[in-house]
Amino acid sequence: MRMKRKEDLKKCGICGNLTSRVAFNFKQPHKMYKCRFCESMFLHPLPDAGTIREFYCEEYFRNHNIQYLKGLDGNSIESRIRLAQESVKYEIHPFKRTGKLLEVGCASGFFLKAAERLGWETMGIEISEFACLFASQRLGLNVMNSRLEDAGLPKNHFDVIVMFMVLEHFPDPVRILQIAKESLKTGGIMIIKIPNYRCVESVIFKSKWHQLSFPYHLYIFSPASMKFLADKLNLSIDALGTYRHFSNYINPVSNHICGRMVKESVNLKEKAGRFKHVLKFLYKSVFSVLDERLLMGEQIRVVLRKND
Ligand SMILES: [Zn+2]
Repeated sequence: MRMKRKEDLKKCGICGNLTSRVAFNFKQPHKMYKCRFCESMFLHPLPDAGTIREFYCEEYFRNHNIQYLKGLDGNSIESRIRLAQESVKYEIHPFKRTGKLLEVGCASGFFLKAAERLGWETMGIEISEFACLFASQRLGLNVMNSRLEDAGLPKNHFDVIVMFMVLEHFPDPVRILQIAKESLKTGGIMIIKIPNYRCVESVIFKSKWHQLSFPYHLYIFSPASMKFLADKLNLSIDALGTYRHFSNYINPVSNHICGRMVKESVNLKEKAGRFKHVLKFLYKSVFSVLDERLLMGEQIRVVLRKND
């Protein structure tokens, strides 16, 4: 009888099955495994709690282009809050318009501040002390510098919990969703955004796909694995879709081409602007099929409702 190699039998932290195989090799001894049962991908071995905390020091946020936060003046802060208000209206208001809102991983707090302006009673949890201080001292928000697991959240309390690009950072996403569910009121919702490894970019770039983000991303999901998680936790799915940030693709291409056109003649500036719209239209036409129908966008947005 042929024996399976030991490293092929890592237990999936989402479904508990031993049906994973190595998807990618990272720096030894770390590998990304893909579960054949629930379709989740997970890093093994996982970093310990101390190492994870060290990940999110000030340097992490510097690396993620937030280094200018400290120098922001009142006007810049105000314009970022106004911009975030549009996100709150887009992300939350189709589902709920008012109540108690928790953001897990609120970073510097602009989204939460915007929600507060729009009438939400807000609370944030943030593991980075640096980001947390900015949110509480500069934006005056109620933000805990804690891991979600240690926060001691009240039960049946929140109407909405948002987790934007954070679930993939946790070593035990099932437990995180369970804790979040317990602190939601019956009828409350979680709005979650996570990377989608079933996207076009992952197929093209494989182990170089930027959302694998070793060693920060411990789990990567697909639409199917999010459905599995929802079932496991007895949460209903109000919405599930995928999307991508057009600006990541459109701006570099159009700026390059438009930049050349504008250089040739100032009168061409208007034409260059129109070209950008055409490019965006063509791009959206192609990718709307991939993102909306085939669920192959680079990020998943899922809305889960607590019914019990
Ligand atoms: Zn699994």
